[in-house]
Amino acid sequence: MEQKSKRAKLNNKKRMTAVMQALETRYPEPERGLKSGEDPFRLLIMAILSAQTTDARVNLISPALFERFPDAKSIADSSEGELEEYIKTVGLYNTKAKNIRNACRRLVDAYEGVIPSKMEDLLTLGGVGRKVANLIRGDLYGLGGIVADTHCIRIANRLGFVSSTNPLKVEKALDPLVPKDKQSEFCHRIVLFGREVCSARNPKCSGCELFTSCDRNGV
Ligand code: SF4
Repeated sequence: MEQKSKRAKLNNKKRMTAVMQALETRYPEPERGLKSGEDPFRLLIMAILSAQTTDARVNLISPALFERFPDAKSIADSSEGELEEYIKTVGLYNTKAKNIRNACRRLVDAYEGVIPSKMEDLLTLGGVGRKVANLIRGDLYGLGGIVADTHCIRIANRLGFVSSTNPLKVEKALDPLVPKDKQSEFCHRIVLFGREVCSARNPKCSGCELFTSCDRNGV
């Protein structure tokens, strides 16, 4: 039994290497969904806003939002209702506004306005769960992190690397298979692949470059 599980792990490593190579060939320089201009503060706020909302919607409202609120202090000091005006076309904007104000107050009070890099610190910021924290750690600090978003969860299941829709389980299943220094790019590639090929409703299995590595194999 133990032998079998060891074999499965080895097999998964091999399969993941093949998957990563195919994705790298398809997307040598994967585009980021959120256009934050590499600005840490913007990336954090946009990532919080992007929950259950398209990246396109968040990108659309961002220029006006950051012109009025260029840093954490400007949001921490704003009066209730002001931030809401700028993000009201985004889903769940009332909750997100509260979370963002809390996150910015904490950033100012505890971190001098600088986005922290440790997972436990990031998780103390309003609206930041492991998905956003891993995005920040990977994209800003090069520390890696599996961003278990809807595309990642769906594709990891279809490929047979995990059998669960629980984001933490997906993260823990993929983390040992993808080298830390490749995790950030890997996750951006998975999002693009999920949008273009392995979509939720209509995966284009015939002709898919991951077909031979895929458990679903077109089923
Ligand atoms: S073969 Fe189909 S299910 Fe598997 S990764 Fe490709 S598109 Fe997705």
